[in-house]
Amino acid sequence: MPVLRSAFIALSKNRALRRFCEHSRFGRKMSSRFVAGLEIGDALRVAEAVNRQGMLVTLDSLGESVSSEVEAHRAADIYHQLLDAIGAHKLNANISVKLTQMGLELSPSLAETIAVSLAGHAKSVGSFLRIDMEDSSLTQVTLEIVRRLHARPELSDSIGVVIQAYLYRSQSDIEQLVADGIRVRLCKGAYNEPPEVAFPAKADVDKNYLELTKILLESPIYHGLATHDEAMIAAAKTFARERGIEPGHFEFQMLYGVRRDLQRSLVREGYNVRVYVPFGREWYPYFMRRLAERPANVVFLAKNFFRS
Ligand SMILES: Cc1cc2nc3c(=O)[nH]c(=O)nc-3n(C[C@H](O)[C@H](O)[C@H](O)COP(=O)(O)OP(=O)(O)OC[C@H]3O[C@@H](n4cnc5c(N)ncnc54)[C@H](O)[C@@H]3O)c2cc1C
Repeated sequence: MPVLRSAFIALSKNRALRRFCEHSRFGRKMSSRFVAGLEIGDALRVAEAVNRQGMLVTLDSLGESVSSEVEAHRAADIYHQLLDAIGAHKLNANISVKLTQMGLELSPSLAETIAVSLAGHAKSVGSFLRIDMEDSSLTQVTLEIVRRLHARPELSDSIGVVIQAYLYRSQSDIEQLVADGIRVRLCKGAYNEPPEVAFPAKADVDKNYLELTKILLESPIYHGLATHDEAMIAAAKTFARERGIEPGHFEFQMLYGVRRDLQRSLVREGYNVRVYVPFGREWYPYFMRRLAERPANVVFLAKNFFRS
């Protein structure tokens, strides 16, 4: 793993730097490229603009690992407000939720209860709950919760999960999820994982991403391919074309502020594109993971900062 990627992931856990950045004007300005804003209203404004450009949205209220039940319910309440707004403004938008933000590390049953109520609410407004995937210590429990929600007939079409191509276990997880009829978002994976559980070499992660893409595209279920990697996107398009899989059978997903040019060109070509729109006061770890993925972003952001 490149040194800079590891360094940014380590910095994403640095409390002093986090406090400084989250409370400084400088930090908020730097993050605005990747984060829609601090408040629900900011996220809704961005979601409407993205919808107007012909793209779908998933909204993410930033935050991870709460330390009390009250905090977990407070985090869930923001999502309930988002779902009300999605219904009221008829936004073409889903929500993306981290189970640690819903109290997973305090009590899996607390997180599951909250997820059930969010999925029910999502269904009532024609939306969808996607459970984000966090580090590998949480993969199993996350999948078990998603499976139990999906097994409830009233929620089965309102819940999906994320699989990370860097994990060795992902092929067997995907085969099981596809057999169960659960919608998957496939990504490469954003955490620092040891070689015991994850491919250390990027080339192997990419190879696995392509293998898993093929399984997803050939399944009868609507899945999401989350990547900005042009090679992954080109290979998915070619595979779909060769197999006669319609562009409307799946969607590409990308992060807000990343490769806007590519997002727009896929829409022009007739593909479904969903933009992941994060917002909220706890933007720091998310922002640092984006820098970890592409350290050159530091130079890019700094140039824009001094230009404006
Ligand atoms: C919609 C969405 C949801 C996600 N959900 C999760 C999740 O639940 N769990 C999880 O672990 N990870 C998640 N991720 C992050 C993902 O795992 C990767 O870390 C991230 O997408 C970078 O990988 P890549 O596929 O874009 O390819 P990479 O090989 O990292 O990058 C390929 C190319 O894409 C461009 N690029 C990539 N990242 C950036 C960036 N930050 N800024 C500018 N250009 C960039 C560059 O041109 C780069 O050369 C999600 C990603 C997306 C798009």
